[in-house]
Amino acid sequence: MIEEKGILFILSGPSGVGKGTVRKELFQQKTDLKYSISMTTRNKRPGEVDGVDYFYKSREEFEQLIQQNKLLEYAEYVNNYYGTPRDYVEKTLEEGHDVFLEIEVQGALQVKENFPDGVFIFLFPPSLEELKNRIVSRGTESTELVLNRLKEARNEIELMDAYDYVVVNDDVGLAVEKVQAIIQSEHLKRERIASQYKKILEDEL
Ligand code: 5GP
Repeated sequence: MIEEKGILFILSGPSGVGKGTVRKELFQQKTDLKYSISMTTRNKRPGEVDGVDYFYKSREEFEQLIQQNKLLEYAEYVNNYYGTPRDYVEKTLEEGHDVFLEIEVQGALQVKENFPDGVFIFLFPPSLEELKNRIVSRGTESTELVLNRLKEARNEIELMDAYDYVVVNDDVGLAVEKVQAIIQSEHLKRERIASQYKKILEDEL
């Protein structure tokens, strides 16, 4: 059995597009992917669990993590920090597992700088009207926060060019199927597997 490094998948896209829903549905199904749980300074929402949905940190703790270079990427988004733990991602990839990040677009751009071989998937809203409805109907935020998130969403859509794939989220089930197809295809790419097959040939001949 030839040891291979895992592939880093990044699901990103504008606020309210349904990244969290697609990610949760993907992980409901049988998968070998490892989800990287993010750090955040935002308040826990009802039903969320520390260490499952996020690792909840104070601003001081988070800023310390930044200084210690413990984050692979981080972004300040609607007045809160969000970031990806570096050690977990690097170790898990090294062990040969695929890692899945679900993060906003500023962070995704930072990951792209460090991991150009990562697979970047942009989740696209069916329409801006739909996006607005989703952000409003979530109902957990004040009007000001909703407006902020919508403004961010417009700017975020413009960052699509940095991505490898675009998946329209008009139906969660279909979007998940498409993400699974992307994951499967990436594992079949010649440049990823050619060296394995060459080794097999060398061993056998
Ligand atoms: P929420 O507060 O709704 O859970 O998340 C807000 C936004 O932060 C979402 O777009 C989510 O994808 C993003 N996010 C979650 N974790 C991370 C992270 O570790 N880094 C970055 N850059 N964004 C994140």
